[in-house]
Amino acid sequence: MTQCSCKTEWSGLVECHCVSCHQSFSTDRNFEDHRTGDYDTGRRCYTADELATLTLQPSGRLRFKASPQKNGRVVWVSWSEDREWVADD
Ligand SMILES: [Zn+2]
Ligand SMILES: [Zn+2]
Repeated sequence: MTQCSCKTEWSGLVECHCVSCHQSFSTDRNFEDHRTGDYDTGRRCYTADELATLTLQPSGRLRFKASPQKNGRVVWVSWSEDREWVADD
């Protein structure tokens, strides 16, 4: 297990936690997609509100889905993943 300064604990195998914005993601790919902006002008994290409304182009489908976990945390998953995605801890 890894622990963040916000006391969130996670297993790197099944989950990625951002030490900058303190949101959790189910995969490396999802983690990477929560970052935006040019490398020149500075990268930043999408906020939870932005993630909830972010869409894929050109389909316009939602990119992320918030998946509440038993421990009360929320993990961002892809809509293309299993609907009942739950962290295996
Ligand atoms: Zn972040
Ligand atoms: Zn954190």
